[in-house]
Amino acid sequence: MTGRELPTPDPVVGDEEAEFWQALGEGRFLLRRCQQCGDVPWYPRPFCPACGSRDVPWFEASGTGTVYSFTIAAKAGPPFDAAVPYVIAYIELDEGPRIISNVVGCPPEQVHIGQRVEVRYVPRVDGPPLYRFAPVDAAR
Ligand SMILES: [Zn+2]
Repeated sequence: MTGRELPTPDPVVGDEEAEFWQALGEGRFLLRRCQQCGDVPWYPRPFCPACGSRDVPWFEASGTGTVYSFTIAAKAGPPFDAAVPYVIAYIELDEGPRIISNVVGCPPEQVHIGQRVEVRYVPRVDGPPLYRFAPVDAAR
């Protein structure tokens, strides 16, 4: 395992993202898909950055993806300094968008490009959970 746990800072939740964060609390990872051009924008927003359409309804995503690229943070400022080393990664979701997150659930040296990962909901005491990713075969 990765040793000490990563901190869980407060997410910034605006009106446009409230449904996303609420769904995380229910164990669902939501994305939006443009009904005009098919784009799946990240971050989710109420319009399509590719074509400008406002017809971008939410849908429940698979929560799975692939490590597109990553780095191992060996040094960090507080409060993340207590959790080094940890992985910061671009995850290419199966629905298309690439998002920044962390890979947890395995030693950093086992993370590799092309690795299959799935979302993990990291509980917080005073708000919605955070999302991070773990190898699909990692223990829960
Ligand atoms: Zn579009």
